[in-house]
Amino acid sequence: MPSSSGAADALVSALSEALGADAVLAGGDLSAYEVDWRRRYRGRARAVVRPGDTQAVATALRLCAAHGAAVVPQGGNTGLVGGGVPDGSGREVVLSLARMNRIRQVDVDNATMEVEAGCVLQAVQQAAEARGLLFPLSLAAEGSCTIGGNLATNAGGTQVLRYGSARDLCLGLEVVLADGRIWSGLTGLRKDNTGYDLRQLFIGSEGTLGIITAATLRLHPLPRARLTAWATMDSAAAALALFRRARQQLGPGLTAFELMNGFSLQLTARHFPELARGLPGMADGHPPAWSVLLELSDTEDETQAAARLEALLGQALEAGCIADALVATSLSQARAMWHVREAIPLAQSQEGLNIKHDIALPISAIPDFIARTDLAIQRVAPGARMVDFGHVGDGNLHYNVQAPEGADAATFLSNHEAAINEVVYEAVTALGGSISAEHGIGLLKRDELVLRKPALALEMMHALKRALDPAGCLNPGRVLRPQASPH
Ligand code: FAD
Ligand code: ZN
Repeated sequence: MPSSSGAADALVSALSEALGADAVLAGGDLSAYEVDWRRRYRGRARAVVRPGDTQAVATALRLCAAHGAAVVPQGGNTGLVGGGVPDGSGREVVLSLARMNRIRQVDVDNATMEVEAGCVLQAVQQAAEARGLLFPLSLAAEGSCTIGGNLATNAGGTQVLRYGSARDLCLGLEVVLADGRIWSGLTGLRKDNTGYDLRQLFIGSEGTLGIITAATLRLHPLPRARLTAWATMDSAAAALALFRRARQQLGPGLTAFELMNGFSLQLTARHFPELARGLPGMADGHPPAWSVLLELSDTEDETQAAARLEALLGQALEAGCIADALVATSLSQARAMWHVREAIPLAQSQEGLNIKHDIALPISAIPDFIARTDLAIQRVAPGARMVDFGHVGDGNLHYNVQAPEGADAATFLSNHEAAINEVVYEAVTALGGSISAEHGIGLLKRDELVLRKPALALEMMHALKRALDPAGCLNPGRVLRPQASPH
């Protein structure tokens, strides 16, 4: 077994010699690379390699393969399922793409952009905007997550309803395989039926099939008008009725439809009282049962767009579908509404340890799912507080559970987490849903995947893994349980 003690390690020496000593970190404080964002996973890296270009990634992988070393790719380290940090063995090499952050080119007429994997999402958005175009992927971690990580996890976020997930925003990829060979699939073509769509294999594979080093991204026209509104209602079914109307009346202009239950807003009001005050029903800190944030963006001018949004909300009020509504009249008011929505996960962590479920359901099944599962959870964990919010226009709920008021959260989790997960995932499975809508599998849901995915699907996934990474060096044990570990 190779030593993991920095200077004496033959692999570390070979990497330093080939890539330059400044591209290889070993022996010092590597904690920034070893702990995940939620602080649920904490490991120890044999070394952190920070290549500056695709050839250097290829060299690093060839050397790691020759030494039989496992490689854990990492972008911005904002992933929520523990897939991007090393395990505790001290034998896994972290491959950070952070230095590969160049925007290689923008083709305005083709509405595409070629970027390196380590580009921070916000920098990609800004570079598109500077050329009068939109890269619509948008999520609260956009200031630090990377496009490589977004593609590796097939990230979703708040604009999926209109523009799709990361998968839908990528036309081509450059990937380094486990043995160090480079696949150059950087194409900006909208149509290309030349056999299997290899790019789709790597998107969502969470670093287990290859290292994404660059991508050709699909851009969209920049909307001229962007309007945000907040509406309140007394049931999830009423929120769904509003969604039906909004989809019908706003068509593709409907870019976001986010649902929040009363308790998620109560928590936000408790921990960030300055944020929520001006919103309907929030003045006294007792929010209505349900609220929705919706966004209309379009290429028509602002007055026309506002008229359409006002008409939608007016009719929904008249029909008794919603209780109250407010259209933001300034950019700062719109931002304030988004801040409230985005503060929910932070308010949850301030409140204490909690259980998260990132699930997908047929949109039509959501009200029924919530009603039944809320009750079932109370049976196994009386007093549990439900934090329900999410991208309901995509059928994606963040269906989270907080310990009862005043209870010790760690004890609550150790006593009830397994039973609560069982209740939630059984209900999701019964409705034909998914146990991971947008965050991926990583380590967190790997064992649940074995229980929930059809055996034949798992068999095909393992076959792909063996074909592309026969030695099992790429992010081993993430997504799939190792079948026969060479490490
Ligand atoms: P990392 O965390 O570094 O890595 C994630 C996974 O991808 C790991 O398995 C890693 O090994 C692999 N990987 C990274 N780079 C590469 C590469 N170049 N090649 C191959 N594999 C690679 N997700 C959503 O979908 N929607 C949201 O709304 C959302 N909101 C979030 C809000 C917050 C505050 C936070 C912290 C996270 C949120 N996420 C959300 C999670 C989301 O998965 C990440 O933010 C993002 O997509 C990961 O990018 P990253 O560069 O940080 O990847
Ligand atoms: Zn989300």
